[in-house]
Amino acid sequence: MMAKTFRASRLPAHGAEPGWAALLPARAPTPALDRAITADVVIIGAGFAGLAAATRLAQLDPTLSVAIIDADVVGNGASGRNSGFLIDLPHDISSGNFGVDAATKSRNEITVARSAIELYARLAQASDWGKDIFDPCGKYSVAMTDAGKEHLATYSAKLKALDEPHQLLGAAEIADITGTRSFKAGLFTPGAAMVQPVALVRGIADRFKGSVSLFERTPALSIETSSSGCTVKTPKGEVRAAKVILATNGHAESFGFGSGELLHVFTYASLTEPFAPSLIGGLSKWGATPAAPMGTTVRRINEAAGDRILIRSRYSYIPSIEVGATAMKGAAKLHDRKFADRFPDHRHLKMQYRWAGAMALTWNTVPLFGEVEDRIFAACACNGIGGTKSTAAGIATAELAVGHQSLLGEIFRAFEKPQRLPPRPLVEVGARLNLAMREWRAGRE
Ligand SMILES: Cc1cc2nc3c(=O)[nH]c(=O)nc-3n(C[C@H](O)[C@H](O)[C@H](O)COP(=O)(O)OP(=O)(O)OC[C@H]3O[C@@H](n4cnc5c(N)ncnc54)[C@H](O)[C@@H]3O)c2cc1C
Repeated sequence: MMAKTFRASRLPAHGAEPGWAALLPARAPTPALDRAITADVVIIGAGFAGLAAATRLAQLDPTLSVAIIDADVVGNGASGRNSGFLIDLPHDISSGNFGVDAATKSRNEITVARSAIELYARLAQASDWGKDIFDPCGKYSVAMTDAGKEHLATYSAKLKALDEPHQLLGAAEIADITGTRSFKAGLFTPGAAMVQPVALVRGIADRFKGSVSLFERTPALSIETSSSGCTVKTPKGEVRAAKVILATNGHAESFGFGSGELLHVFTYASLTEPFAPSLIGGLSKWGATPAAPMGTTVRRINEAAGDRILIRSRYSYIPSIEVGATAMKGAAKLHDRKFADRFPDHRHLKMQYRWAGAMALTWNTVPLFGEVEDRIFAACACNGIGGTKSTAAGIATAELAVGHQSLLGEIFRAFEKPQRLPPRPLVEVGARLNLAMREWRAGRE
């Protein structure tokens, strides 16, 4: 085998910490790597994918030594920046006729998502996590418009065909849950779980001991492969290992993997200041995704200081994988409008935290998965639903790296490879236009 070197052309710059971290007590990160070490497997990236891969490797073979490194601290990447929905059902069950192939595809997507949720449910039980970290409470979809209401009715028919339990809710019923009369209809699906993302990823990271070592603030600068193994170089040390798992999401491309195949898209969240639970009626904890896929996600959380509402909206294509002040300002303005639209009587509530996070999408919505080079295995390109898909990709990659067979592995191996994107100038214009058009189509949703 020919020796090869893959150098990181850029490192992640995630930006201001997400509101989720500000709500938690401070945590001391694990020390950065400052020497040369050896391991059986080195994992680059400690988000959902990397943490799940390390957890699965430790389950499959507790004698295997695993080193996991992250350029930042655990919870500062997208895995700590999301809205915390672990969704078990695909957004889009099938387009066109509901044929056998479409049903199998949907079933596979459900198996992928539920494998991830099961992993977290087991960890929650083993670690005694409360519902403030992992809550298998289901989630709502909500409609602001008649078109959205119709979409929920169509989705309900598809769920029925798949024999998936759910409940359609009228305007009064969804108002009783959300405390606002702004929604025209809702749909409840019981299989989703809601998480505090930073608490969840920190909880997993803090479980590692024995054969799994985590090094935070340790960027991988290069990966060298040869017939005798791999070396991952970091600023003050290196890891020599037989295999590398790349769990860096869009930064796979920074090493040259998935080049010209990944679309780097940011989305944004804002979290209100705390308010007295009695201020807004309804339940004190719920999460609702929009009836239209490119719409606005809303979540209410309940903690000691009071309740808060989270708004997640806006997608923007940023190929540099670094968000700027103008994009943040635009998203903030949009979030304030979306909040006022949904809670007109409480528009005075201020947003206390705002943040953004990067996702990696592919043209044909498949992950960058599998042995992408001799000894290098990828669990990247979450396609915006990394809570479940990146987690499951991490599990499946760990299994692939040690030769363990499973249904999840079969499903991942059967995914097509990511399609090549059109040349860069066309993608830049196309992606921006496409996102703008879809956002416009989502309208008030
Ligand atoms: C605002 C927002 C809301 C979202 N809401 C949801 C939701 O509700 N549900 C859902 O399923 N998904 C949601 N997502 C998407 C989800 O957060 C991502 O899909 C998911 O976090 C991807 O996980 P990952 O482990 O693949 O990648 P990441 O979390 O991006 O982890 C990759 C890690 O690799 C590290 N890294 C990169 N390069 C290097 C290097 N050279 N050396 C060392 N480390 C490196 C990074 O620091 C990072 O920690 C949301 C995203 C955002 C931004």
